[in-house]
Amino acid sequence: MSGLIFDRSRPGRHAGGLAPEVLESVDDLPATCLRKVPPALPEVSELDVVRHYTRLSQKNFSIDTHFYPLGSCTMKYNPRAANRFAMLEGFLSAHPLAPARFQQGFLECVFELQEILRAVTGMSAVVLSPMAGAQGEFAGIAMIRRYHASRGDPGRTEILVPDAAHGTNPASAIMGGFRVREVPTGPDGDVDLDALQKAVGPATAGIMLTNPSTLGVFERRIVEIASLVHGAGGLLYYDGANLNAILGRARPGDMRFDILHLNLHKTFSTPHGGGGPGAAALGVSARLEPFLPTPFAARDPAGGFCWIGAEGRPESIGRLSAFMGNAGVLLRAYAYARLLGRGGLRRVSTFAALNANYLARRLEAAGFELAFPERRASHECIVTLRREAREYGVTAMDFAKRLLDYGLHAPTTYFPMLIPECLLIEPTETESKETLDAFVEAMSRIRAEAATDPERVRGAPWTTPVRRLDDVRAAREPDLRWRPPGVGSAAET
Ligand SMILES: *Cc1c(COP(=O)(O)O)cnc(C)c1O
Repeated sequence: MSGLIFDRSRPGRHAGGLAPEVLESVDDLPATCLRKVPPALPEVSELDVVRHYTRLSQKNFSIDTHFYPLGSCTMKYNPRAANRFAMLEGFLSAHPLAPARFQQGFLECVFELQEILRAVTGMSAVVLSPMAGAQGEFAGIAMIRRYHASRGDPGRTEILVPDAAHGTNPASAIMGGFRVREVPTGPDGDVDLDALQKAVGPATAGIMLTNPSTLGVFERRIVEIASLVHGAGGLLYYDGANLNAILGRARPGDMRFDILHLNLHKTFSTPHGGGGPGAAALGVSARLEPFLPTPFAARDPAGGFCWIGAEGRPESIGRLSAFMGNAGVLLRAYAYARLLGRGGLRRVSTFAALNANYLARRLEAAGFELAFPERRASHECIVTLRREAREYGVTAMDFAKRLLDYGLHAPTTYFPMLIPECLLIEPTETESKETLDAFVEAMSRIRAEAATDPERVRGAPWTTPVRRLDDVRAAREPDLRWRPPGVGSAAET
């Protein structure tokens, strides 16, 4: 059996309790709009449906069931309380086109979230309309373009991006019409300042940086980098997708960044990874405020709260979506921040950093090679398995796949690309010492297997519902369609 719900279908079977009421007004529809044959839906009982989807969900790796230390992703546990708050009936039944006077409660939550994130980041203004980190980047890049144009400085055509950056950074810069100039990393994991000095100039529109970087270390010379880029007339963009390394203890605004985005679906309590909705906060320094996308929430001079739209903001880069962002994600972030409070947000970075450093030192003690052994880890750390690859012919990908057999999701593999055979490991602040110890134990056992029985590791995973997938083909030629038996190619259906 293929495992599709269609295979359980039997003519005439149905879930009586869930059947929709039959509409009586279909007679009004023109004949051309009516189906000639009923849709090919599975005919199944309620019990069939419950069992099918419960079984499907059990085939997944998820944070609710497994440790999921995917680096640069913050796959942490998100408290159910934030979810419950966002699902209050008053929020669920609100309509985005309702006038502001009927949205005061929601508007106040959005406004307060903007204020909380302003305080947390040290930026002058924060808006919440981007639907993802990458859309926040795109909006930030558009603001950089608008800023230079507004000063009559159109010759700034380049965005500097460190070679360790997340792939969305160069992609956003290019989509925004800029050329990307790569800045190399020094052997200690910091940006190579000499190379940066050579790269900045009159063509520099800005630099996109992550601090801590995706190499799992804090950039120590951020003040010098800021002076260099600002001195040359460029702007600083902060990729704050994962803020849990510095929450409550360091602020990008104080590091003199001009623009930033935060992934609320990483740091602020919306589960992600399955392609569900996300949201980014976009923060700016005072000189970039006129270019912010609309709408955003503000205090209404007449009392209460209002939306600031395109009217009266001629320099805005415009809208990013039909309405004001992903309401549910924003509400989860707001509830999470209020539940934790100032002290709780600071504890997030305490435990994110403690867990990453504990894991790094335990892996090192177990004989694994850290990419930057001299450096303190941020909220994540990098192990390179180049020695294991050389000695046993077992790669980082083989380790990653074998971890699945031990009931652990793999860390991020082969990113950042600078480090050969690397695993980028982010334990997150929500995991216990016992879980971290179990991960180190599994890594050690896999290495022992690699020495004695490398095929055991190379052939992994052995216990999962599917084995190794052709992930390139899955991404390039996804085939997600079910066709009734006897119907041919996708083109016909
Ligand atoms: C996740 C991530 C992004 C992209 O965020 P999306 O919401 O997936 O678009 C950008 N930069 C870094 C460092 C990230 O970890």
